[in-house]
Amino acid sequence: MSGKLYLIAGPSGVGKGTVVKELMKLDSKLALSVSATTRSPRPGEIDGVNYFFLTREKFEKMIEEDGFLEHAEYAGNCYGTPMKPVSDKLAQGYDVILEIEVQGCMQVLEKCPDAIAIFLLPPSYEILEKRLRGRGTESEEVIQKRLSAARVELGYVNKYHCFVVNDVVEDAAKRILDIIKEKRGA
Ligand code: 5GP
Repeated sequence: MSGKLYLIAGPSGVGKGTVVKELMKLDSKLALSVSATTRSPRPGEIDGVNYFFLTREKFEKMIEEDGFLEHAEYAGNCYGTPMKPVSDKLAQGYDVILEIEVQGCMQVLEKCPDAIAIFLLPPSYEILEKRLRGRGTESEEVIQKRLSAARVELGYVNKYHCFVVNDVVEDAAKRILDIIKEKRGA
């Protein structure tokens, strides 16, 4: 039986990456999609592990070749989900996790109506801003871009199937796994 597609979305700084990392430890039938991006790697990020870091030319070539399940421009950079690894893993019976922003999420929901969209919420907007600044990796301009994108993203909440508040990372990951298990049982 083929697996199901889960979209984990939520504003930048909400802790999607951390929660998803925790989630992946909890279940061996989950596969995480590695996205492509045109942004530069942050310290410690590895090509092929955190992202496939592509030039804009390569990214555009992949769009032309229909290589993406979805792609979007976010805060001045392009991000996209390579199609082939996702369809391979689904065919092998894995539930596939995509950690993506809202425009990409909407594209996937159009193409794959069975996908489940989970929105990760910060405990408050103030905490989101604090987390984003606390990361210390972005300039003020980038932080402002991400905060305004977050306001837009929070406006799409009615499109999602489930909501999880990221108060404590381990708890948020467990709540997502509970949602997945419930769907598996259905
Ligand atoms: P970051 O630069 O902080 O790693 O990611 C910025 C935003 O892009 C985050 O909201 C992240 O979830 C989203 N993102 C990461 N990969 C993809 C992708 O493949 N497609 C889309 N649409 N968004 C992505």
